Amino acid sequence: MWQSPSMSYEPPMSNDEFRRAGHEMIDWIADYWETVETRPVLSQVAPGDLRAALPASPPSTGEAWSEIMSDVDELIMPGITHWQSPNFFAYFPANASPPSVLGELMSAGLGVQGMLWATSPACTELETHMMDWMVDLCGLPDRFRSSGSGGGVIQDSASSGALVAILAARERTAGQYRWDELVAYTSEHAHSSMLKGCRIAGLMEDQVRLIQSDENFAMDAAALREAMQNDIVEGRRPFFVQATAGTTSSTAFDPIEEIADICKDFVAWLHVDGAFAGSAAVAPEFRFVNDGLDRVDSYTFNPHKWLLTNFDCSLFYVADRQPMIAALSVLPEYLRNAATDAGSVVDYRDWQVPLGRRFRALKLWFVIRTHGAEGLANFVRSHVEMAKDFDAKIAAHPQYEVVAPTALSLVTFRHIGGDADNERIRDAINHGGEAYITHTKLNDQVVLRLAIGAVRTEQRHIDAVYSLLAALA
Ligand code: PLP
Repeated sequence: MWQSPSMSYEPPMSNDEFRRAGHEMIDWIADYWETVETRPVLSQVAPGDLRAALPASPPSTGEAWSEIMSDVDELIMPGITHWQSPNFFAYFPANASPPSVLGELMSAGLGVQGMLWATSPACTELETHMMDWMVDLCGLPDRFRSSGSGGGVIQDSASSGALVAILAARERTAGQYRWDELVAYTSEHAHSSMLKGCRIAGLMEDQVRLIQSDENFAMDAAALREAMQNDIVEGRRPFFVQATAGTTSSTAFDPIEEIADICKDFVAWLHVDGAFAGSAAVAPEFRFVNDGLDRVDSYTFNPHKWLLTNFDCSLFYVADRQPMIAALSVLPEYLRNAATDAGSVVDYRDWQVPLGRRFRALKLWFVIRTHGAEGLANFVRSHVEMAKDFDAKIAAHPQYEVVAPTALSLVTFRHIGGDADNERIRDAINHGGEAYITHTKLNDQVVLRLAIGAVRTEQRHIDAVYSLLAALA
């Protein structure tokens, strides 16, 4: 017998309460940005501190919003490392600019799943349009435009872009070679995401070669050719090369033109990882970061690193979208719709690993429209200028040396005293809280990295970190 439902969902936050809490949240974020400079950049908590302060079990009844926000201030904030601090110089930056954050908020409010054009046409079409705008803004090759055989998509990360490129490259060899014959190549200084992508794609350790680099930490093209030739002799099939435009350790640039010649000879897919450096191309004078891209199969770079757009927003371009779609498209009945069947639309679910996808283009659109091409270019220019200044100061200091060319806004340097001194200096800066820097290894030596790129970094912050380094020398 039918019974009327006895339970109904009572939202704990009415629309009016949401409006009030939302306004307060924007104030909270704006206050945070205004004061972030005064906080210790690297979180100073110990492992387990937060877990110990949180209740062991979830609440059985709902709690007041004000209590939750006060716990944010008391419990969560001490465990935050302040990526938006102007004194954040670690890894690479992760920009969060105001228009971008508003785009993120709106995307969450719309709650769109953009897996198919039909599930929200604006989500797909704005994304295609932004990817084409970025071709214009960065002076990228026409082969990446949506009007030709290629096109672009926003991925969550450069790691996902690399994986999609590997899968597309493997698809291109389907029917010709066995998968266990395939070999992929990259340089010893490539980002670890390439190795991870190969693993996920099912390649074994002995199907990936790390090619040696030259004195500037760029891939040695002659060594690449030799490795590929040796593999052919042994009956293997070179199918994929990942080159880097701006390595993580030192922003070294692999010789893409030469590598493209080699890939052509061996019919291998060439993917270029420009995760950090790619954004520099918004300034015409830094378009050297695009050298050779008119000859590559795929390319990725991250506005979520250095182009004012908060994580996640990684742009992935292909010159020919067919192998990628062939590798990733599976169409079950429940996703069928007239637009897909007519073949008249882009369905981005076929351009990525997951099915569901967020409306990421909104934040990029907001960032581009509020800054304009000039504003974006001036943003990266200011950081490159600061890096040149810091590089010159380090080069002039008797106890420090610059270790790799400062191509853009990353300065790689070391104290001449050796590894122990560099680790001591890094730890003193980070534990003091005034700034945050990280290290890497080049030529088997510990070196320090000053990655300039946070939204609020000014020359005075560079001067301050230099003074710290000088005092610790
Ligand atoms: N490639 C390079 C050169 C990087 O520097 C990084 C991260 O710093 C990545 C790839 C990974 O980026 P993502 O976190 O978007 O996967």
